[in-house]
Amino acid sequence: MNRPKTNQTAGQRTMAVHAGEGPDPTTGASAPNIVMSSTFVLDEPVGFSAYDIPEDAPYVYSRWSNPTVRQLEDKLAALEQAPTCRCFASGMAATAAVLLSALKSGERLVMSDANYPGTAEFARNNLARMGVEVAVVNFSDLDAVEQAVTPSTSLLWGETPANPAMRITDIQAVAEIAHQSGARLAIDSTFATPIATQPITLGADYVIHSLTKYCCGHGDAMGGAVLASKDDMRSIETDAQIHMGGVISPFNAWLINRGLGTLPLRMQAHQANALAVAQFLESHPQVTKVLYPGLASHPHHELAKRQMKNFSGMLSFQVKDGEDRVSRMIFELQVIHYAVSLGHHRSLICWLGTDDLMASSYHLTGDALRAYREFAGDGVFRLSVGLEDPEDLCRDLARALD
Ligand SMILES: *Cc1c(COP(=O)(O)O)cnc(C)c1O
Repeated sequence: MNRPKTNQTAGQRTMAVHAGEGPDPTTGASAPNIVMSSTFVLDEPVGFSAYDIPEDAPYVYSRWSNPTVRQLEDKLAALEQAPTCRCFASGMAATAAVLLSALKSGERLVMSDANYPGTAEFARNNLARMGVEVAVVNFSDLDAVEQAVTPSTSLLWGETPANPAMRITDIQAVAEIAHQSGARLAIDSTFATPIATQPITLGADYVIHSLTKYCCGHGDAMGGAVLASKDDMRSIETDAQIHMGGVISPFNAWLINRGLGTLPLRMQAHQANALAVAQFLESHPQVTKVLYPGLASHPHHELAKRQMKNFSGMLSFQVKDGEDRVSRMIFELQVIHYAVSLGHHRSLICWLGTDDLMASSYHLTGDALRAYREFAGDGVFRLSVGLEDPEDLCRDLARALD
């Protein structure tokens, strides 16, 4: 297995291009090949159990590991400064891999009260049904997080910046709270990307990415990743990857690996465009609030400046009578696509209504609901600012908001 060394001391742009890859030893090909083979010819017998795969095992079967997928995993590990990475078929497969491997019946999960709706629903419905106690709190309120952690808590799960209102979590502070009581911290870092934040270096134990978003960057391949220590990864490899089997296709891994080469440059451009659009929206008479971590008006701007080397391209905004404007957005926007997902080179916008999200996913009441509404009001338009000319994006929004 001729794997190039990933040089973790190189700059991030160099690692984005080269880590995990190298010229093909047989043909000299400069760009990576795609190895689609599901099985590999062996020169000695191997065991059939996921429990006896030695660390230096050859490639055996692509659900266990695949050379093209391994290139992507090595590149992501280098970019995140993480010991190991495993990739999955989607961000939700990566999320489920961590939640199902790190928790068992009778243990407690402390999770952010607002985050990616799929994760929120999986925890509240599926994990709770399997006997995991699920407590939800605002992860921007460190006292609330500390109070929610009990001796039976084994995992804390945060997302930063968080869906859909762009709240920021202090990763270092939450990691300290987790570790004080022997729990682990998982951070969904999809919005931040390794260009903005490297949660492992701040004390997180697991990092989760939907690779479908910025890492792929072009909206044409789904994938997910988990980064962790070798010890924590062992059960993820065996339980989640090999036994639950939600592995990524080598073709998708190849596309995402290709996307990662330009991630540092794309994130710079996403940030510049998002700031221009955020400033335009802030000055627009129909817009009542703009939530972008790079704006001085964002309630967590100081924390964002400390924790994020790039403010990313995600913003949320509120308009007067937001829900009534959704159909106008759908029909008037010509450049920006009205669609879910994010992190693509195309700009994408969608409406996330507070009542709908509460009923379907978050179920918050009382003070928690009030705190959520302080950020998100009756709902937000979540805008993933793409790589088009910012003037065209502002013109497009101006027409739809008139
Ligand atoms: C999209 C997303 C996910 C889920 O990823 P998929 O690739 O769609 O399965 C998880 N977390 C966040 C923050 C996301 O944006």
